Amino acid sequence: MEPVMRKDVPVEETWDLSLIYPTEEAFEEAVEQMKALADEICEKYQGKMTDADAIVACLDAYEEVEKLSALVGSYAGLAVEVDYYDGTAMERDRRIRSMEAELFSRLTFIRSEIMEQPEAVIEEAIEKTVKAKGYLRDILRDKPHRLAPETERVLAAFSQTFETPYEIYNIAKLADMKFPSFTVNGKEYPLGYSLFEDDYEYERDTDVRRTAFKAFSDKIRQYENLTAAAYNACVTTEKTESRLRGYASVFDYLLFDQKVTREMYDRQIDIITEKLAPHMRRYAKLIQKIYGLDKMTFADLKLPLDPDYDPKVTIEESHKLVREGLAILGEDYVSMIDEAYRDRWIDFAKNQGKCTGGFCSSPYGRGSFILLSWNNRMSDVSTIAHELGHAGHFRNANANQSLFDTEVSGYFIEAPSTMNEILLAHHLLKTNDDPRFKRWMLASMIGNTYYHNFVTHLREAWYQREVYRIIDDGGSVDAETLSDIFRKNLELFWGDTVELTEGAELTWMRQPHYYMGLYSYTYSAGLTVATQAALRIEREGAPAVEDWKKVLKAGSTLDPAGLAKLAGIDISTDKPLLDTIDYIGSVIDEIERLTEEIEKK
Ligand SMILES: [Zn+2]
Repeated sequence: MEPVMRKDVPVEETWDLSLIYPTEEAFEEAVEQMKALADEICEKYQGKMTDADAIVACLDAYEEVEKLSALVGSYAGLAVEVDYYDGTAMERDRRIRSMEAELFSRLTFIRSEIMEQPEAVIEEAIEKTVKAKGYLRDILRDKPHRLAPETERVLAAFSQTFETPYEIYNIAKLADMKFPSFTVNGKEYPLGYSLFEDDYEYERDTDVRRTAFKAFSDKIRQYENLTAAAYNACVTTEKTESRLRGYASVFDYLLFDQKVTREMYDRQIDIITEKLAPHMRRYAKLIQKIYGLDKMTFADLKLPLDPDYDPKVTIEESHKLVREGLAILGEDYVSMIDEAYRDRWIDFAKNQGKCTGGFCSSPYGRGSFILLSWNNRMSDVSTIAHELGHAGHFRNANANQSLFDTEVSGYFIEAPSTMNEILLAHHLLKTNDDPRFKRWMLASMIGNTYYHNFVTHLREAWYQREVYRIIDDGGSVDAETLSDIFRKNLELFWGDTVELTEGAELTWMRQPHYYMGLYSYTYSAGLTVATQAALRIEREGAPAVEDWKKVLKAGSTLDPAGLAKLAGIDISTDKPLLDTIDYIGSVIDEIERLTEEIEKK
């Protein structure tokens, strides 16, 4: 069935952007207010940021502009994410982005002028400011990489242009690619991007599943050169900027904002590639055995371990499950969940031209907006728990910190979300003693949560590291190189347990994350913290929950290592990661044991 157009989607399955601005007029008013405030800041402070008091006052006003920008940008941008065919929304979004590019390019004097002050003045401003301590500390840290003010102004004016590669990627993927239907045993099946990723990859019928994979791969392959050119432009731009700013390597540049060491980055990629591979190969073999497959191919990896045990869930039931599963986090957390369902924070709808995948956007001072494509699966409930983890994080951080102190490092950002997935799964395990249910639940954890973060995204991370090594050495990449890297990547992890179907090497075309720097590896980093924190909460109860709430409230006032420490986890060593891989191994042991028990019956 072809997905419907946006206008035909039931309103209760859509999010309510009027929670940001009740009317178009209110939105336009905010835009004008933002422009006026920016003009006032330029008038009052440009060329006058020479003492600590001026810096503090200017940043207080600037925070207001940033708040308005988050709201205005979300209001315009989120409308596009659910409907790339909506020309009016796209035009409005472009107008806002271009207005913001112009506005923020004029405001770059704030950073530049502060940056030019002697350290003592900046230190004094850090003492005096309530809201901008973190912001100013970052400026001190950033000082050596700052270019001349005029150069910064020019670069900021080009900011929208620098986003073109990602825009091209999205337009090719969401608007241009029209997938033809495919036929298996005389029956015709429709195909689409989200239909493939959300349905056919999990399809039980091997012929349908593998044929869908082929049809999907054949279509995206027609765009491989276009996609590679856009991607090469993206990574080359990043390299150029890293060189201009005097970073030793593009890695140092991309990791700078995450506040993690190169060692912490490499550790995730190297240890998981080496130590998780044997466990995941066992898991792949188990799928092959259960389905009685002649061979295990790349197109079979997403298969649920026990297909007969894939209960359908309604949106209403998801509310109850998420509510119970996360009750351990306290009453205020549960009331947020109720609010999310009651006030329509979540866009469940499946329609043409909607962005694939899930995300949660939490503009400062409003609730959260969660995008997903609801498919009536238990894994969708897990997605909601995940996205609500982001919502809960920013509800706490936004309420307790200034906007400047809610810029949580990408290394940590997926910890609260993936922890919710684990808590939900562990809760559901306790509700039923049937070995088959238990196996299904554990297999869902491996097949969804851990597979997604420790396998899918980690393979992307391995691939990205190879790409950036080439770029760092002054090289460039094309479609052939990218496919070669990805094939090698998958071979390294799966060995000869999994046959790499033709098309597997095109996985580099499928993720928007590649346009967002070194982001993919952080999923596994966040889940490492999440696993250890969830196990601690279940072991110790209230004190561990209290510590976790402190972490959520801390926003970005601490770096990832500091946040983890607050939760009682020491990520300066590889122990949490090794413990987490052991935990994954023990879950797979249990799945194997339960499988034997079920087969004996
Ligand atoms: Zn997430």
